[in-house]
Amino acid sequence: MKIYNTLSGRKEEFVPIEEGKVSMYVCGPTVYNLIHIGNARPMLVFDTVRRYMEYKGYDVNFVSNFTDVDDKIIKKALEEGVDASVISERYIAECKKDMEGMNVKPATTHPLATQEIGGMLEMIGSLIEKGHAYAAADGTVYFRTRSFREYGKLSHKNLDDLQGGNRSLLVSGENQKEDPLDFVLWKPKKEGEPYWESPWCDGRPGWHIECSVMSRKYLGEEIDIHAGGEDLVFPHHENEIAQSEAANGKTFAHYWMHNAFLNIDNHKMSKSAGNFFTVRDISEKYDLQVLRFFMLSAHYRSPLNFSAELMQAAQNGYDRIVTAVENLDYLMKSAGEEAESAAEKELEEQAETFVAKFEEAMEDDFNTADALAAIFELVKFVNTNTEGGHTRAYLQMLKDKITMLADICGLIVEKKEELLPEDIEALIEERQSARKAKNFARADEIRNELLEKGIVLEDTREGVKWKRA
Ligand code: AMP
Ligand code: ZN
Repeated sequence: MKIYNTLSGRKEEFVPIEEGKVSMYVCGPTVYNLIHIGNARPMLVFDTVRRYMEYKGYDVNFVSNFTDVDDKIIKKALEEGVDASVISERYIAECKKDMEGMNVKPATTHPLATQEIGGMLEMIGSLIEKGHAYAAADGTVYFRTRSFREYGKLSHKNLDDLQGGNRSLLVSGENQKEDPLDFVLWKPKKEGEPYWESPWCDGRPGWHIECSVMSRKYLGEEIDIHAGGEDLVFPHHENEIAQSEAANGKTFAHYWMHNAFLNIDNHKMSKSAGNFFTVRDISEKYDLQVLRFFMLSAHYRSPLNFSAELMQAAQNGYDRIVTAVENLDYLMKSAGEEAESAAEKELEEQAETFVAKFEEAMEDDFNTADALAAIFELVKFVNTNTEGGHTRAYLQMLKDKITMLADICGLIVEKKEELLPEDIEALIEERQSARKAKNFARADEIRNELLEKGIVLEDTREGVKWKRA
């Protein structure tokens, strides 16, 4: 399996630290609002990476944080006149709903920055002790960037170029820093803000230290993969490396993966320009499976443009897979129970080649665009090789192959029949008439039919009531 590593700037063969296991950290969202479709891209991409690794038999420890203390959260809390935790808890719950809608698996652990302050104080303390950090007069603690020799190795930046670009900072009130390149590990509280006590001042952590600490706590000092959107390469991930490697004396992450950005109608997403969609907005127009399909239709390192036309194309593509599965289900109803014929066995071998193609695409730095193309080839094969009476075993084998590959992409292609309240009421009425006519067999049949679809009937004094099981 090859992974493009931002650190080396090339594709490398994936070799895990521990055989059969993968430790993976993905920087999660700052929770002050509903997540937008840009935030959804890393969620969907790295969930798919995880699913493929699990398919390959790896035991994946997948950690993704919620940044629940931040200027934007505090600003929103002040606007609403509530505690910052009210805002972060609300949007964590909303984010989890969106993740479920997109069929993103919950992480093994979803740590919260505010619950990990002790670990941050400990790491900052040890960085000061080792000479990699210092406290300024007002209690702000800075990382001494030049003390970490390899600073810039991820973003391939040169310290002296950075120095030039940052000179203006010295004039803008940051002159308590020893060097304009130094960045904040701990900062003093401002009036009305949440804060924690520390040896340096009452205050809160800088953003970068949060991930270094949470990654170490849940995955260890040295991990396989660290991931996020490409905007995080510098300074966030560069700073995480400096903090973690200076504190632990070990390579922080072996592979660094970054997804490219999602644009809207070829423009950067921006609230002020009005070209901005939340996942919730999209869910009102489309099944979120279509959004998932759309995101995977491009390679994760290519910029992706969101437009109504491309979403329509995604809808058509997704529907084609769903329809193929529906057809197989339909054909199976009247299929023979005998074992696969010799001719069918031969077709099975042909179908297997599409699975191999899918894997080949995924092994090449998770080329989901080509992987989806392999699923389409399989769908086409299914559509042309299921006519004229086949065994159930053969049809089931084809269905299993499609659903297995779709599942690696996190795509749900088997539609559960959703009953609408009117349909349920109509069936209840039919059951009542059947009972009146003493046709108890039919009445029971309806009760069971509803039960199979997750509807429980209750005969009460006021009549029949129903609820979803
Ligand atoms: P944030 O809440 O801004 O920290 O972002 C959470 C994650 O979403 C990070 O991995 C970002 O890199 C990623 N992200 C934000 N905007 C976009 C976008 N337009 N396209 C792709 N990824 C994005
Ligand atoms: Zn992070």
